[in-house]
Amino acid sequence: MPVKHNRPTNVRVKRSSAGLGLFAAVRFKKRETIIEYIGKRISSREGDELENNSYIFTVNSKTDIDGSPRWNTARYANHSCRPNCESVIRQGRVFIIAMRNIQPGEELTYDYGKDYFNDFIKPFGCRCIKCAAPNPAKPKPSPKKRKEAISPS
Ligand SMILES: [Zn+2]
Repeated sequence: MPVKHNRPTNVRVKRSSAGLGLFAAVRFKKRETIIEYIGKRISSREGDELENNSYIFTVNSKTDIDGSPRWNTARYANHSCRPNCESVIRQGRVFIIAMRNIQPGEELTYDYGKDYFNDFIKPFGCRCIKCAAPNPAKPKPSPKKRKEAISPS
């Protein structure tokens, strides 16, 4: 079966706050399929043994997809703790779909899942929009009480 890896035209790879990111080039409707996460299908054991397994996508208990090749454009979609996309598995294939209506130019992000987050993101600190946002304003410290001499009367 010949394998063709046409560059998708509905998305664009660009610089984002977390290195490269995947951006919408067109409008997406809620629940619309944006891109398939493609790569070499390997067994879960092979996936566990890979040196750099940060592009492994678990399909089921037996199968992983090694999405590290550059022609897997979906690999550029960054993790977010407040994503606008989600990953779904349909008949053993992985797709990134819109969780809400998305405008052209918006960065496409999805939640990579708890295991990935703990292994690959947490140790370095998450740089998603939610986590990188400045902390809510802290109450201002009250003005310092200065010592005052109590003049003897
Ligand atoms: Zn985050």
